[in-house]
Amino acid sequence: MTTDVLIIGGGVIGLATAIELKLRSHSVTIIVRDFLSGASHAAAGMLAPVAEQIPPGAMLELCMLSRQLYSDWTSKIEHISGLSTGYWNCGILAPVYEKISRNNAQWLDKSATSQHQPNLSSEVAGSWWYPEDGQVDNRALTNALQACAIAIGVIIQDKVTVKSFIYEQNRVTGVCTTTNDLIHAEHYVLATGAWSQELLPIPVHPKKGQMLSVRVTDKELPLKQVLFGSDIYIVPRTDGRIIIGATSEDVGFTPHNTPAGMQLLLQQAIRLYPPLQNYPIEEFWWGFRPATPDELPILGASPYFNLTLATGHYRNGILLAPVTANLIADVINNKTSSLLEHFHYSRFYS
Ligand SMILES: Cc1cc2nc3c(=O)[nH]c(=O)nc-3n(C[C@H](O)[C@H](O)[C@H](O)COP(=O)(O)OP(=O)(O)OC[C@H]3O[C@@H](n4cnc5c(N)ncnc54)[C@H](O)[C@@H]3O)c2cc1C
Repeated sequence: MTTDVLIIGGGVIGLATAIELKLRSHSVTIIVRDFLSGASHAAAGMLAPVAEQIPPGAMLELCMLSRQLYSDWTSKIEHISGLSTGYWNCGILAPVYEKISRNNAQWLDKSATSQHQPNLSSEVAGSWWYPEDGQVDNRALTNALQACAIAIGVIIQDKVTVKSFIYEQNRVTGVCTTTNDLIHAEHYVLATGAWSQELLPIPVHPKKGQMLSVRVTDKELPLKQVLFGSDIYIVPRTDGRIIIGATSEDVGFTPHNTPAGMQLLLQQAIRLYPPLQNYPIEEFWWGFRPATPDELPILGASPYFNLTLATGHYRNGILLAPVTANLIADVINNKTSSLLEHFHYSRFYS
């Protein structure tokens, strides 16, 4: 089988890139081992470059560009797929137990905070308000991206793993898969998230995050914005779920939720927003963030001239999906961007 572009990985990064390339008239195939085990299914979906306090520089520029694209990008995906992505520019409130100054945020004192969000812990001293940050329902987004990709003619090979690349000097000539097919393409994109080292020696490693959700039983949503605490975040969805996350653990690909992980999340979440203790728990899950040593993604060129890298998005891959798709599609169409220099894989090799 041959295709213009072969994308390995079906998380938000692979799917968003496939759609962008297809809309620019390439024939595109995605090979994906498992949609549900990716970080894109596990995430909280916050679009939080400012609340996350990403320092000024190329990463903040990348994140802000992507946040700016989000509204139009999700409208386009929703229009083509006919499915909601749950994009909600609800703002993010960061309550604190002690005031420590922050840049680019509006301070709300204790009484302004409780007017903004009733029933927070009495220990909360005030909060920082980030009106431009928001969220997307990452599971709804992933479903909509899949439907959109299929609707516009991207070919998806699901439940198939790429075992290895085939190289000829500095060029990839094909991939071998678990179905014993050889697939050839003009261009290849590696979008395999935390599993990237299985195929290429680049420094991406898994950082496990455990999460849980409760379901609101009240008629009206008790939370109307994301709460971003110092070690906990609480993300209300419009369908009545409240997502609580997340641990950050260096345990390789060790699966499962642990009592210690759940205890930590529940303790911190209930401390910040006590009404949570009475809602029914709906689900526990975990996922693996694709982390790099400097916590920045690896984007653009690889050691092979027809292999492009789109991995290592760590804590911000949902946020960074639209800008990554644009930049990677530009690379494949021979357009360069000076922003990409900051995310080149060679920064890890002297
Ligand atoms: C708990 C948690 C909370 C998070 N919260 C947020 C958040 O609030 N906001 C935010 O912006 N980001 C968040 N993130 C980070 C975000 O989820 C990731 O950065 C993003 O999903 C990475 O997307 P991806 O497509 O690169 O990887 P993934 O979604 O992991 O997808 C990788 C895909 O590659 C496939 N694959 C791997 N190897 C192969 C192979 N050899 N052959 C075929 N297929 C293969 C996998 O099956 C998978 O489908 C969070 C992550 C976690 C774990």
